[in-house]
Amino acid sequence: MRISKRNLILGIIAIILIIIISILLIKQFSKDEKPDIKVDEKKQDTLIYNTNVEGIANINNIYIYGMHLNLSGEVNTTSDISSIELVLFNKSDKKRYNLEYEYIDNKVKFYLSNKINEGIYLDEILKGEYQVLLKITSSDEVIRYYSLNNNTAYSYMDYYTITRNGKNNYIEISTLSTQMVIRVTEKTLPKDVYDITIDPGHGGDDPGAVKNDIYESYINLEVALKLKKELENLGLKVKITRTGDYNPGNIAGISPYGKGGRVAIGYETKSKLFLSVHSNNLPLYPQNNGVEIYTSTNNNKQLASLIASNIVKETKINYSSKKQDKVMNGVYVRNFTTSEINTFKREAKENNYKFYETINTKTQYYYVIRETGGIITGAYVDGRNKDYSANLYYNSNIGLDGYLIEMGYITNSNDLKILLNKKNQYAIAIKNAVKEYLNITN
Ligand SMILES: [Zn+2]
Repeated sequence: MRISKRNLILGIIAIILIIIISILLIKQFSKDEKPDIKVDEKKQDTLIYNTNVEGIANINNIYIYGMHLNLSGEVNTTSDISSIELVLFNKSDKKRYNLEYEYIDNKVKFYLSNKINEGIYLDEILKGEYQVLLKITSSDEVIRYYSLNNNTAYSYMDYYTITRNGKNNYIEISTLSTQMVIRVTEKTLPKDVYDITIDPGHGGDDPGAVKNDIYESYINLEVALKLKKELENLGLKVKITRTGDYNPGNIAGISPYGKGGRVAIGYETKSKLFLSVHSNNLPLYPQNNGVEIYTSTNNNKQLASLIASNIVKETKINYSSKKQDKVMNGVYVRNFTTSEINTFKREAKENNYKFYETINTKTQYYYVIRETGGIITGAYVDGRNKDYSANLYYNSNIGLDGYLIEMGYITNSNDLKILLNKKNQYAIAIKNAVKEYLNITN
């Protein structure tokens, strides 16, 4: 068959026309789709709105510590209350949390938990969009809903759940006027976001405790690297603050809190847990021995006691013989003492810089716990020296659930043997504790 030049040209024009029309149609089609999605979103917003809201309650404090959202606030009510709940509402009460409450003057003060690592366990909220409401049931069984007015500086927070079977949810908590909304979607963990940060103490110019030619910094690093592997075998994404003999916080005078420092690494990776690995040192009292896990005052101590008991079980080291600051076997809380605070005050005055206003006898002594927890654990800045003292994240209301693990005393001969010979057992013990705490079943 022979095709004329004229037919060939017409054919080509027809094909070009078909392509142009197709492109236009596709563009038109996708233009039409976008507004539809927006309309749907609005529809959903109105769908979840509970029209029975009768008033407004105020949130005066809100934060995420570790894997829990916690809040407290107040509401004006004259009714005789039988229960107060926080409700995640999506067409119905999808999830309820009982609140503690007390009457003060004509107000009712409420809070989720007085433990900082308790409250709403974010990882268990199912995908969806929820309006957060306060539900008050009176003694005569009348139910009233209150919307929430966020009085704090934190009207938006986001959070990635712990990796489970390679999957994560992304949670956004936002308040616009008096509408508090929690939105949970599935989202792959971004490259720079991690579940846990491990911090091998000291390194480089700071060897930590030294006994003969044995450096604490080496022992810490070896255990931490093994622990990283163990946790990764559970499917967790783990950041480590150093992988060699250097001090990530002290390069060219940078403080551990500043950019590139241990504390900043914890915040920047949005980690949920911060595990600092150390070995203890008390040369004047070589009889002192055993494991000590330090954590913050209002922590529920669950993970701390799991780490302590698992280490004792796996390594056969003792619970520490130290009585001071002891909360339970192997679990300790060390806060600043009055005399330490007075010393800080004197130093500030002598050197003419502003004293840290927020320090008191409930402030954590160990910076790896205090500074990684943000406002919740009393992270602070002073006027001394921007490079040294400025924690970039001191005013964050999203804090890491932080633990300082003192594995044993380098200055006790029996402990030292265990520290040198049972590094694998330390890593396995801490892994087992984390596994139980996170309820990982695989
Ligand atoms: Zn140390």
